[in-house]
Amino acid sequence: MRYLVLSDLHANLEALEATLEAAHAVGFDRALVLGDLVGYGADPNAVVARVRQLDPVAIIRGNHDRVAAGVDDAESFNPVARDAALWTREALEPETLAYLHALTPGPVLVDDLVEICHGSPADEDAYVMDGLDALRALRDATRQVCLCGHTHVPLVVALDGDALIYEDGDERRAIPIVAGRRYLINAGSVGQPRDGDPRAAFAMADTGRREVTLFRVPYPVEKAQARIRAAGLPEGLALRLSAGR
Ligand code: ZN
Repeated sequence: MRYLVLSDLHANLEALEATLEAAHAVGFDRALVLGDLVGYGADPNAVVARVRQLDPVAIIRGNHDRVAAGVDDAESFNPVARDAALWTREALEPETLAYLHALTPGPVLVDDLVEICHGSPADEDAYVMDGLDALRALRDATRQVCLCGHTHVPLVVALDGDALIYEDGDERRAIPIVAGRRYLINAGSVGQPRDGDPRAAFAMADTGRREVTLFRVPYPVEKAQARIRAAGLPEGLALRLSAGR
């Protein structure tokens, strides 16, 4: 099975469309969606509609989906994220709202090899930023490959016995899933990358070949920025897209 891995789409339709075009060119069987479909960007309804068309084999919620759907309040959000969440809540069509409201938390065990979570397996809101966080997350993972999102920064770490190994996650280089090692892989963010590279990020997980590949794809950032400005969302949300921060 060849899975397309999408996380942190954040209502960025231009980034999602470029991602899907690239993903279809590479080829995949089914999609996995790791949460934060909405929040920050200007097209929550269209992005959710495109995700539903994909008919993901597994999909989980992120913290922004919870707040936009009214499952949670925006208390834990900074002022910009809160403004965007409240704008999103107003903008959601009833069908989109119902879909987001029904999303379940991770982790979801996709098959014998792969599980997905938004933050970490034990805590959907945890940020896995460094080796210690990754160790904790791997301790709680129940599959050899744990795919996560939430930080918007790609990360590939493997645990071999007690040794943590940082894998080279260069784009389009297949990372082999080696027997005896356990992997934590963050594909990065489709709709709001924060690693200094503004291109949309996604991954392919091939369970037959036992390898995971990270991808980056350029998209018309200025169009997404224009949509954000036209919506009256905070200017910072437009600016950060071109900085990739
Ligand atoms: Zn996010």
